Amino acid sequence: MLYERSSRLFAEAEQVIPGGVNSPVRAFKAVGGTPIFIKEAKGAYLYDEDGNRLIDYINSWGPMILGHAYAPVVDAVIEKAKKGTSFGTPTALETEIAKLAVNMVPNIDKIRFVNSGTEACMSAIRLARGYTGREKIIKFAGCYHGHSDSFLIQAGSGAITFGTPNSPGVTQGTAKDTLLATYNDLDNVRALFEANPKEIAAIIIEPVAGNMGCVPPAEGFLQGLRNLCDANGTLLIFDEVMTGFRLAKGGVQELFGIKADIVAFGKVIGGGLPVGAFAARNEIMNYLAPVGPVYQAGTLSGNPLAMAAGFEMLKALDADAEIFIRLDAKTSYLETGIRNILEKKGIAFTINRVGSMISVHFDARPVTDFATAGYGNNDSFKKFFHGLLAEGVYIAPSAYETWFITDALTYDDLNFTLQAIEKVADTL
Ligand code: PMP
Repeated sequence: MLYERSSRLFAEAEQVIPGGVNSPVRAFKAVGGTPIFIKEAKGAYLYDEDGNRLIDYINSWGPMILGHAYAPVVDAVIEKAKKGTSFGTPTALETEIAKLAVNMVPNIDKIRFVNSGTEACMSAIRLARGYTGREKIIKFAGCYHGHSDSFLIQAGSGAITFGTPNSPGVTQGTAKDTLLATYNDLDNVRALFEANPKEIAAIIIEPVAGNMGCVPPAEGFLQGLRNLCDANGTLLIFDEVMTGFRLAKGGVQELFGIKADIVAFGKVIGGGLPVGAFAARNEIMNYLAPVGPVYQAGTLSGNPLAMAAGFEMLKALDADAEIFIRLDAKTSYLETGIRNILEKKGIAFTINRVGSMISVHFDARPVTDFATAGYGNNDSFKKFFHGLLAEGVYIAPSAYETWFITDALTYDDLNFTLQAIEKVADTL
């Protein structure tokens, strides 16, 4: 495949946009080469500026769970746009989508919409601090909760890919209130509670991690966190920006039957427009301005185009009793196919998967936390990535990222992908 136009556009972009991109992981730094510039997308496919078709396993990093340019979302956005793009006043649609979300997700009474996953997590932490009157939080190494200061402490995703776990610009004062724990290690969390009695406002966690590749919670881990939070008067925040409306209608709370105190959303909830949200029971949400003392706001929050897109997306997911079963079946088919190929070729690997989130690590050792996720960040991954790209299969350009499977993928697409993997495996 030729990427002449993409190369030219990237060179041009680098002149006026830092690194040529508006979000670091798009830059292909981890795998080398030139990012692909996309012109349009439909269903399971991206079409780039050079006219290549790529089967998309990134799907805008999660949101496009029903495929690109999903007609009900596109139509709703067009119709809304004709009536004005922002009012800065309440609209009936905000209540409609809030009612639907509260219905779909267990254990939440109220939801507040923001513009990104970063904002959702940042606001969730402020709310937890305001509610508990405590300042410290626990986060897990390798989990990414957006680029707000308190979270850029051994964060996953682009923040590891670029080796800047502690970003300059985050003050010592902020960093001291973020306690770092090891994913899947309850003893480690327990020790942090013992060392900081009555000081920890919240634990924030990706309940299925997706920013160090996919890392599932070990049996009993989430329940253990729930118990520690209950025993210590600490709130449990599930960052379901990736997992919400993807692993089940009600996210990981529903999938594993664990209750969180605050839940953060992003990605799918916006149907591909810039939306985030955070939600909790009344007693916690009523701490928010204008009813409560914790301030949080946004000029474009609840924007009509964004809400129209999100509402159509959630309605489609809510109405489809089979959607999560279908996504699981497709991803399981892919997983089995990849396992068979790599085993046959004698290539060392680990595959982690929960529902439609999957990652392939080129190392035989289990990947259970940030340290072990590093094993697969190697030359094999880079070759795999570029080999697949040359075959027209687009996976995330970093070993620390998860693939997101879309329902628009057909079994023909999956078979095409497996054939490509078979070819590429010979080069590893
Ligand atoms: N939390 C998680 C789990 C995420 O995966 C991300 C983004 N990848 C965020 C928060 C931040 O969301 P956004 O990029 O929309 O700010």
